[in-house]
Amino acid sequence: MKKITAAIAGNPNSGKSSIFNMLTGARQHVGNYPGVTVEKKEGLCRYKDYEITVVDLPGTYSLSAYSVEELIARNFIIEQQPDVVIDVVDSSVIERNLYLATQLMEMNAPLVLAFNMSDIAAQKGLHFDIEYLSQLLQTKIAPTIGNKQKGKEKLLDAIIETARQGRAERVHKINYGEEIETELEKLEALIAEKEGPLSQKLGRRWLAIKLLEQDSEIRGKIGDESVLGAAAGSVEHLRSIFGDEPEIVIADRRYGFISGACQETIKSTVELRHDRSDMADGVLIHRVLGLPIFLFLMYLVFVLTFRIGEYPMGWLEQFFGWLAGTITNFWPAGTESWLKSLLVDGVIGGVGGVIVFLPNILLLFMAISLLEDSGYMARAAFIMDRVMHKLGLHGKSFIPMLIGFGCSVPAIMATRILENRRNRLTTIMVIPLMSCGARLTIYALLIPAFFAEGWRGPMLWVIYLIGILLAVICAKVLRLTVFRGETVPFVMELPPYRMPKLKSICIHTWHRGWMYLKKAGTIILAISILLWTMGSFPKPKPDSLTGLNAGEIQQKKLEYSVMGRVGRAIEPVIRPLGFDWKIGTALIGAAAAKEVFVSQLGIVYAEDQGQTLRQKLQASYTPLVGFCIMLFCLISAPCVATVAMTRQETNSWGWALFQFFGLTGLAYAVTFIVYQIGSLFAG
Ligand code: GDP
Ligand code: MG
Repeated sequence: MKKITAAIAGNPNSGKSSIFNMLTGARQHVGNYPGVTVEKKEGLCRYKDYEITVVDLPGTYSLSAYSVEELIARNFIIEQQPDVVIDVVDSSVIERNLYLATQLMEMNAPLVLAFNMSDIAAQKGLHFDIEYLSQLLQTKIAPTIGNKQKGKEKLLDAIIETARQGRAERVHKINYGEEIETELEKLEALIAEKEGPLSQKLGRRWLAIKLLEQDSEIRGKIGDESVLGAAAGSVEHLRSIFGDEPEIVIADRRYGFISGACQETIKSTVELRHDRSDMADGVLIHRVLGLPIFLFLMYLVFVLTFRIGEYPMGWLEQFFGWLAGTITNFWPAGTESWLKSLLVDGVIGGVGGVIVFLPNILLLFMAISLLEDSGYMARAAFIMDRVMHKLGLHGKSFIPMLIGFGCSVPAIMATRILENRRNRLTTIMVIPLMSCGARLTIYALLIPAFFAEGWRGPMLWVIYLIGILLAVICAKVLRLTVFRGETVPFVMELPPYRMPKLKSICIHTWHRGWMYLKKAGTIILAISILLWTMGSFPKPKPDSLTGLNAGEIQQKKLEYSVMGRVGRAIEPVIRPLGFDWKIGTALIGAAAAKEVFVSQLGIVYAEDQGQTLRQKLQASYTPLVGFCIMLFCLISAPCVATVAMTRQETNSWGWALFQFFGLTGLAYAVTFIVYQIGSLFAG
């Protein structure tokens, strides 16, 4: 005879006592929990070769520290470590009842769900996909009718099975959103360091969550002042972002998890849902309407980002033009100075060229945090989940990919919302194929140079589409090869809709804008100076330049410089793509930051004889070459900032280099094929 203890938890009136009676029959013992006048019922149950001690815990809605009942139930589970916790759920009002289940899951309790009141649920027209739901929640589920003694065997089998498996670390956790997760991460690390034994017993994550919820009991257990101090700081920070107690936001997120799980597994034959959030969901995640609404909203975001962004962008361009002019005027007209050239061509040309996009970036992120904070983004991921599954990805991968149209760097950061590592890596790898804002500058230069008015719009559309298609293909291929493995289904959270808070949106937007400025001020500044140096030295002897006009002199100088020589050196490699050494030098610049491609071409084709850069390009290359340049820039090597971010987020140079060379190789192959086949027709 093997012995098991099982504790019954559940909301008041969910039918706990009925289940307790069903399991134990007459073999009951009634006492009190030590020190309090709360009734403790214990009973025995024999099944197969098991003797199960069943304890009826007090009925609770939650496991916080607000009432004696909650504390008793929680401490029993922590201190007595029952082999199984049976959560009796009133399945006719499932969403409210599952809240307790999320708490038990978070405590890593070995959980079995008794879906009680299943007779009433059926009367209400609720149909559960028990198998899928139990996969999502990673628990066994047994439907029961407590007062009619139905479902006993299945419940007992589930209990025994769960007891046999023991406590296993849960794979999927409730995702509390970027801000809270960041604080949790910090606290967890600190707890592991300062509160070793306690975190062994209760789990770091659970402790960290309880600290954010300002759980008085857990705070009392923590001895280390620095942990409490850090927790208070985190709470304060979150309170300022959300304008609400973190505890409330955390509870909202748990309901979001439940709502997502139910949305996918429960069908109602009768229309029951009627609160405002549900009505909004009725339209926004509607099977047919959901996708077009979503696409329209995204279209709006992009249009607004670029339309409104045009104005501040123009002002910034004027400002940098003025700055360059002012600096140039420090030197008498016509004088040569390396410092002037470094400041004007290197620093302002490079960094200024990037900062002018700041308004677009800010607007895009403002729109995205508006959608995120209102709860809509979670719906977008929910809608895309079906499509993304076909690619071996998860619906949540969609959000980072979307951000990738703005810039790969924050997009890669945003993959933190993906908990499955293979999924996350796959998403990171294909993000650079989402044509970023910087690449738009390249298209904006090249498309009008090579394509007639009517073809320009469609051309741009085709380029973006090629990026998306390649991303889809690459993701699928990666999931079948390098990142092979099952996609375990997990819950797409559907947090309740909230009125977005201005402060929170400003903080988000500023945070991301600041990251972008930092990139411009550090990486891009360094690279601009480096490229400028490469393009300026060594200088040819002055007598070799006599008799040449200004434009020819600049070309000669460039050819003679390190940059020019590197361009020449790689020319044989890029010849089959239709590129010459001039494009080669610009491509090297583009690896630093895509925007540099344009400014670099500007230097190579120095303006003279009143011809614009565009006219010169048109005179020098065929439209096929123009298209191939765009294709190559779209697919090839992600910029240095992206590589650095991939390295940071994957914590591996290996993956960063894999991405860099993988995409460059792909770009080479695709462009090669397009150019060679294209030449057959054009030639
Ligand atoms: P507790 O507060 O969780 O201990 O709930 P009880 O076991 O006392 O049950 C509350 C009420 O629900 C009682 O009247 C039970 O007879 C009834 N009940 C329990 N289980 C079921 C069930 O599966 N279906 C129906 N229709 N009623 C139930
Ligand atoms: Mg009872």
